[in-house]
Amino acid sequence: MGKLDGRVVIITGAARGQGEQEARLFRAEGAAVVVADVLDDQGESLAKEIGATYVHLDVGEEADWQAAVTAAKEAHGHLDGLVNNAGILRFNALADTPLDEFMQVVRVNQVGCFLGIKSVAPELADGGTIVNTASYTGVTGMAAVGAYAATKHAILGLTRVAALELAHRGIRVNAMCPGAIDTAMSNPAQLDPNADAAEMTDALDALYRKLVPLGRIGRPEEVARLALFLTCADSSYITGQPFVIDGGWLAGVSVV
Ligand code: NAD
Repeated sequence: MGKLDGRVVIITGAARGQGEQEARLFRAEGAAVVVADVLDDQGESLAKEIGATYVHLDVGEEADWQAAVTAAKEAHGHLDGLVNNAGILRFNALADTPLDEFMQVVRVNQVGCFLGIKSVAPELADGGTIVNTASYTGVTGMAAVGAYAATKHAILGLTRVAALELAHRGIRVNAMCPGAIDTAMSNPAQLDPNADAAEMTDALDALYRKLVPLGRIGRPEEVARLALFLTCADSSYITGQPFVIDGGWLAGVSVV
């Protein structure tokens, strides 16, 4: 018995990183998965490998969402879950951030999450789930990522309101707040075919040893297990909540 047997789940930004690991784990737990991304080659190849459906979905485009929901329902007959995972990060001090860059981050991270809820909620079976990917920076500040942090704070607001509005149908809506996770977002060397990924992870572990109580960067598989918990019946009485997964980073500082 899988924890998601018979359930149909759309995962955005699933061609790589955390979304990819969520797609792999959800399939292994019995879900039919719709892998959605703008990286068509990677997304299609992952979907083929794990026996999922691929759809091209730019999360900032409402028409793409309608097409993705239709594709999921045509392929599987019903829809039970959504993981709003797609996201982008840009580095700039707020005073140096061009408006276009700010709006680009808002469009993907915040509008994407809003359109996901808006498009999927009416089609979700009663008892369905939505998991939104916020961030450590959705609950605290971090210099040089102001646009990103603003959108991740907004995702927690969307999560709480959606949880209130959908609870009468038994639909649960929660958010994940990962700290630093070893994907291309925190570790761009993963995108360089000539880079040694293991060496880069070691270097990041060394960096995060100083910052994070558990002494290393997080792994995308660990976030996938939280997404599974929030999507399956193990979390049946939980809705409207942010879940920090950060190796203890937010717990406080140690002065000794
Ligand atoms: P990643 O860059 O490997 O993955 C992001 C995915 O989103 C990619 O597959 C990308 O193609 C996709 N994407 C980007 N724009 C899109 C769009 N307009 N429409 C559809 N898909 C789009 O990074 P990741 O770490 O796997 O990121 C997953 C989520 O986790 C993001 O929301 C990110 O903000 C969040 N997050 C990451 C970290 C971290 O340290 N890696 C920490 C906290 C939160």
